[in-house]
Amino acid sequence: MDAREIANQLTNRGASPECDVCGEGELQVIAESNYALPAQSERGPGVDPYHSLLVAAVVCANCGHVRLHATRALEP
Ligand SMILES: [Zn+2]
Repeated sequence: MDAREIANQLTNRGASPECDVCGEGELQVIAESNYALPAQSERGPGVDPYHSLLVAAVVCANCGHVRLHATRALEP
């Protein structure tokens, strides 16, 4: 899922185009699904790479606020 697809899915689902912090600005998808939030391993200290959450980062062009969306939830 590329940045354009992510932006289209957010628009189609009624996600607000306004920034949560400043109320203005143009939100831009700055990352495709190549970011992942690490999951804590259940076997001990460290990260479990197989259960990480793939996310898209969206940033406000005005204030720089960043929000994350799980890309799996945005798949058509
Ligand atoms: Zn903002």
